[in-house]
Amino acid sequence: MSVNGAGVNELIGQRFDRLTVIGVSGEKPKRPSCQRIICRCDCGADKVVRLDHLQSGNTRSCGCLRIEVFAQHLARRRAAFPALPGMKICRKCKQEKPVVDFKFFSGAHDGLSSWCRECHRVERWLREFGITPARYAEMAVNGCNICGSMTSGSGKEVFPIDHDRSCCPGDRSCGKCVRGVLCSPCNTSLGGFRDNPTLLYNAITYLEAWRERNAASRMDPNALA
Ligand SMILES: [Zn+2]
Ligand SMILES: [Zn+2]
Ligand SMILES: [Zn+2]
Ligand SMILES: [Zn+2]
Repeated sequence: MSVNGAGVNELIGQRFDRLTVIGVSGEKPKRPSCQRIICRCDCGADKVVRLDHLQSGNTRSCGCLRIEVFAQHLARRRAAFPALPGMKICRKCKQEKPVVDFKFFSGAHDGLSSWCRECHRVERWLREFGITPARYAEMAVNGCNICGSMTSGSGKEVFPIDHDRSCCPGDRSCGKCVRGVLCSPCNTSLGGFRDNPTLLYNAITYLEAWRERNAASRMDPNALA
């Protein structure tokens, strides 16, 4: 199936599990496969879905299917674990969260993992960078290591971890090449300059040269020439 131009409009009326295509978003996608498709779910809710997620079967409902499957799973769990709570305090972050935020773990008396999903996710992520939570906390105590921002700038609670890609080229690190934590804009900028100090120096010279020329031109309009 063609995914660009008129091709996407042919999708209208097609069903993908619980979702029926009712329109195509006017927003221009980065890639044709990322085209946003407007769907109506069998439950009546509308949802905007990425075309590739729809075609791969990754997204099959507005989210109601996942909730139903979880509820069925939970009912079976409750039968097996009468102690299963409605809310639970995560042993790691100490926050009280609903059962849905915990993985099932048959080895536990209440049938739930003692850490919430988010804490497990952060732990896994830190492991990919080869650092401990203590090392992360130490690096993040004063915020972004370049601009000092105390927020990540990505909407996430944690700061992006910056590492030297000449040591570990991918999105993981051996741990030794972790340089620090940066806010999202600083991290992106550093990548834009290919982590190259010469380019960064050139950028400073370039900006300062402009500032001087601009100041001079304010005093003498002919100086810009
Ligand atoms: Zn639904
Ligand atoms: Zn937690
Ligand atoms: Zn920053
Ligand atoms: Zn490395």
